[in-house]
Amino acid sequence: MKGRIDEEGFLEIQRGERIESQMCPFNTDIIVTAYALGSPDDLKPGGASCGDWCPLFGEPGKKRAPGDIIFIDICQGRTLAFEKLEDRRK
Ligand code: SF4
Repeated sequence: MKGRIDEEGFLEIQRGERIESQMCPFNTDIIVTAYALGSPDDLKPGGASCGDWCPLFGEPGKKRAPGDIIFIDICQGRTLAFEKLEDRRK
């Protein structure tokens, strides 16, 4: 999987040819409201995107496996594995 953490700390993952912002499925009220209002681009400032604002979003881990895989632990015991991860945070 390929992805990046943008300048504001929000997670984006490559899905097919596109880089998609990853929404938090536990912030459904904000997401549903934004789409209903036709303004999903306004989601990021509301904290509905998955990212480092969330205490359950781990820091990119050291490579813990053969190869150059980078891991991020997230909620519900899941771990995201990236073959390429760009971290644009300062
Ligand atoms: S890590 Fe946090 S922001 Fe990301 S999906 Fe899980 S609960 Fe939502």
